[in-house]
Amino acid sequence: MRATRAIIHLGNLRRNIEAVRRLVGTGPEICVPVKADAYGHGAVEVVRASLEAGATRFAVASASEAAELRAAGISAPILLLSIAIPEELPDAVELGLAPLVADAEYALALAAEARARGRVAEAHIKVDTGMGRIGCRPEDALSLARLVAGTRGLRLGGVCTHFPVADSLKPGALAFTEGQIDIVEALVRDIEAAGIDPGVVHAANSGGVLYHPRSRFGMVRPGILCYGYLPERDPSPPFFPEPVMELETRIAQIRVAEPGETVSYGRTWTAGLPTRIASLPVGYADGYPRYLSGKGLAWVGGKLAPVRGRICMDQTMIDLGPAGEGGVAAQRYDRVSLFGPGPGMPGADDIADMGGTIAYEVTCDINKRVPRVYLD
Ligand SMILES: *Cc1c(COP(=O)(O)O)cnc(C)c1O
Repeated sequence: MRATRAIIHLGNLRRNIEAVRRLVGTGPEICVPVKADAYGHGAVEVVRASLEAGATRFAVASASEAAELRAAGISAPILLLSIAIPEELPDAVELGLAPLVADAEYALALAAEARARGRVAEAHIKVDTGMGRIGCRPEDALSLARLVAGTRGLRLGGVCTHFPVADSLKPGALAFTEGQIDIVEALVRDIEAAGIDPGVVHAANSGGVLYHPRSRFGMVRPGILCYGYLPERDPSPPFFPEPVMELETRIAQIRVAEPGETVSYGRTWTAGLPTRIASLPVGYADGYPRYLSGKGLAWVGGKLAPVRGRICMDQTMIDLGPAGEGGVAAQRYDRVSLFGPGPGMPGADDIADMGGTIAYEVTCDINKRVPRVYLD
């Protein structure tokens, strides 16, 4: 057993999905994005818990991510969000994925692969309504829908788009997203008017789910909300999700730093008064970010203890203060939480703020060296 572990609170994940369900009502399907090993939480376990909570579909970034789910016996529909390279198409077809398609060349390559394997691939037309990433132009969506619907080896499973600023409450961002929704509504009407069933229409990421009720259509794709964070700080969101991942470690050693003594590489921190420094067997090689050097806060003994000096590859030092009154009551081998769901504990979003990044990157970066432990 390793001291440093990521505890995955699956009960929180299920409650977050149930809260999404209450917010969006019974209409839309819930598709949980489980790309990047479910934002670092462990895709197979996340899928199983999400199915229990009422999610019906999942989304990945590559065929290899889907292969892991299929190998674990998961048969639920899986969207392939990124454009596959030709070498990935055989797997995408054999795994029964639903790829997003954005142009005729790719749609035809997918169709040929499916026919060669005696299969029919479910394609979802991806329309770029303002994300500027992948997608066809809105004016090309109808002809692409015609092509997909009329090509052997393909079935039109859906029409979708993605939002760049749905998490923002700034008036310009709200208007931009509503404009994207208008575009989707119009092109879906055109597809239906041409006698083509568009399949499931989907657009909403976490921001769409929270702030744009018209974006929910037939399915929503909230990621970060399921993993327990708001996509953007908001003091009064429709609901507060509960963080799912907790990064935990144990105290390896406690030493007293005397005045004038320094801690870690670069000697960036010097003790003023005598204080107890605890070393923790966790570092940037686990994904505990080095930008927290001299800034991070760890939750131990019911208090926050500051990180002292530089975070190393495998070790981090925190300050427990003086023994007794005023210090943190902690002993060797005690548990320390670096971030997680507890009251008082820093969240992955608090950590992200210190590094100018987002909670998504913090949980994704907790890597393979850190065993995941699943709790209900
Ligand atoms: C990752 C992703 C999502 C989920 O976004 P969140 O901000 O985590 O809710 C939804 N749709 C697409 C296409 C994505 O790539």
